Amino acid sequence: MSTYQSVNPATNEVIKTWPAHSDQYVEDALATAAQLYQSAWSKGDIQPRIQVLHKLAELIDSRTEELAKIASLEMGKLLKQSRGEVQICARIARYYAEHAEKFLQPVPYPTDLGEAWVEHHPLGVLVAVEPWNFPYYQLMRVLAPNLAAGNPVLAKHAAIVPHCAHIFEQLVLEAGAPKGAWTNLFISSEKVAELIADDRVQGAALTGSERAGSAVAQQAGKYLKKTTLELGGNDVFVVLDDCDLEKAVKQGVQARLSNAGQVCTAAKRFIVQRSVADRFLEKFTEAFKAVKIGDPLDENSTLGPLSSASARDTLDKQVKEAIAKGATLHYGGEALPGPGCFYQPTILTNITRDNPAYFTEFFGPVAQVYVVENDDDAVQLANDSHYGLGGAVFTGDIARGRRMAARIETGMVFINSASDTAAELPFGGVKRSGYGRELSDLGIKEFVNQKLVVVS
Ligand code: NDP
Repeated sequence: MSTYQSVNPATNEVIKTWPAHSDQYVEDALATAAQLYQSAWSKGDIQPRIQVLHKLAELIDSRTEELAKIASLEMGKLLKQSRGEVQICARIARYYAEHAEKFLQPVPYPTDLGEAWVEHHPLGVLVAVEPWNFPYYQLMRVLAPNLAAGNPVLAKHAAIVPHCAHIFEQLVLEAGAPKGAWTNLFISSEKVAELIADDRVQGAALTGSERAGSAVAQQAGKYLKKTTLELGGNDVFVVLDDCDLEKAVKQGVQARLSNAGQVCTAAKRFIVQRSVADRFLEKFTEAFKAVKIGDPLDENSTLGPLSSASARDTLDKQVKEAIAKGATLHYGGEALPGPGCFYQPTILTNITRDNPAYFTEFFGPVAQVYVVENDDDAVQLANDSHYGLGGAVFTGDIARGRRMAARIETGMVFINSASDTAAELPFGGVKRSGYGRELSDLGIKEFVNQKLVVVS
């Protein structure tokens, strides 16, 4: 059974323990959501749902500071970055408020069989399993499109961010959503499996580890339910010889250290062309040395703690193992002493293919730097990964960047900027990074019945 507990990772102090929801509570929540799906709220006019999203965006905007502080205290994100996360949540709510009706319009299909079109209807109750690294944004990526589409959601958030989970549910209700539109459940993984098996549930969306994704997908497969999975990534950040090196270093440092490196689309493998490798590494290391590790609530800190002691210990073990198997520790490599879950920004080089680190996602402030001769080598290394989430290419020649982007096997590639996210851009991966897309018009189409109607 997961213990839902708010622990400040900067101090390791327990803030509050949240009781798990009883089986009866979960059954009531499911029954309420299933009833809501049968009501005019889900199946009728979209306008009431749109109004809730507008109101939700307003509420979130008006409570940015409070929400940001809760996230920073609970999972250690720098306050400035927590504010950014809260703001993008408001933008996502507003985006679907403004565009969902258009996305869900019937689409005509010319045919000899008569007049044909595809309508978009809600699918039913969904289960969302979400992680702690963006404790509001991950929820909003599921809530906004599905609220607009009419799918009620039962949400199981990560055990270490219960305050964020609770307040998000409160905000959705305060914005005017009926009970059942979004229900936060403090439940175990076993209970998630039971929910997925239930006939009243039609699908599941998960963001998290491969292990969790595989468990949820297996269960959903057994009961023939639709899933979307957004799992890990081992994204490349390719630095070519003709790029603006200052910009690449600046963005690379930010892309590796933001959210203490705990981002699925963070730049994790830096692939640098040999002629600029020494200069890149020198400047990159200088920037890592200048990092100010500290309390995420202190506006002067530039790197906060990892989300939990176990996240820090796992990372430390991965780094030590990489070095034991032959990698060079170029910089950092130690957890900071004291109760907080801080880890030095770290750079590893000389990682060979037989080193487990080569295929490992480091979910923390650890950069792997590889040196390559040319574009073909860069692409080969980029694609030699189990993952396929995002990636970035820095070059002065956009045509060269586009050619490389086309060859990289990931769901997203950015040319001359680090990976980013926006309400209007699809988000998701291939290979073991999962399948399906969130955000944009694609995100709202994942859990709708695309129903063909033909009039002859
Ligand atoms: P998990 O995948 O364990 O957690 C994500 C969510 O899945 C949590 O709500 C968790 O619940 C839940 N979960 C875990 N196992 C199951 C299961 N069998 N059935 C249903 N739900 C389940 O991630 P961790 O926090 O352990 O992080 C481990 C690694 O996962 C990271 O190092 C990183 O590689 C990857 N990760 C990727 C993220 C991304 O954005 N793609 C985000 C977070 C992690 P509970 O908290 O109760 O265990």
